[in-house]
Amino acid sequence: MFMSSVSRLGEGRTTYFSKETSKVFVGYSHKCSESWHSLSMTILLVEDDRAIADALVDGLRDNGYKVTHVVLGSEAIAKVRGGGITTVILDLGLPDMDGTEVCRQIRTFSHVPIIVASARETEMDRVTVLDMGADDYVVKPFGIKELVARIHAVMRRASGTVAPVTHIEVGALVIDTKSRTVSVGEKSVAFTPKEFDLLAYLAREPGTVFRRADILRDVWQTTWYGTTKTLDAHVASIRKKLGNAEWVESVRGVGFTLRVVP
Ligand code: CA
Repeated sequence: MFMSSVSRLGEGRTTYFSKETSKVFVGYSHKCSESWHSLSMTILLVEDDRAIADALVDGLRDNGYKVTHVVLGSEAIAKVRGGGITTVILDLGLPDMDGTEVCRQIRTFSHVPIIVASARETEMDRVTVLDMGADDYVVKPFGIKELVARIHAVMRRASGTVAPVTHIEVGALVIDTKSRTVSVGEKSVAFTPKEFDLLAYLAREPGTVFRRADILRDVWQTTWYGTTKTLDAHVASIRKKLGNAEWVESVRGVGFTLRVVP
């Protein structure tokens, strides 16, 4: 229990969002079968520091989330009980009760993803927080990009227990993960198994930059960095087959992202 909690902390994939790409993502996500995209998500922010709360509310709304803000732990528990909350961002130092207790109480009746946001940085706190049932932890000060990435990561894990996505539509690109077929416009395109896996992986979150190491881990099930040449070769082949190199963009020093090509 102890160790599994610790490893869960490092497990969240690091994704990079710019305000721009998030907007692109929000703009066409209605075509995607993902059930957790930001438009339908209500974030419950539990934070008693006015300045931090204001900044986070603005930042999250800019990224397309609906936000409900409360100051007290007891209010937070009541809101989650009331339903409609898809993720909780929870400060630990609250006026009426400790955030750890809020987390513990919510876990007695709800599986809603909880991301603890706190300035308490000791390892003990991380372990305690994850052990009591929080899904992730961000240390203050943190940027809105990091928080949005964490929200996506916990929602992705949470949605993993629901029906898997089988139909992905990004611009002219249509991917069916059940029949493992791909078409661009009216034209169907044949891919090797690994090319298909890589393309489907990137297409689940267009606009998100995936790190090379994460792609290798998730698509090739390896952390061996020598495989990075294989990754480049697959990207080159996917671009060629899609007929337009713009589909897969390289982000220098980071990795790759799928772009929407009309
Ligand atoms: Ca506080």
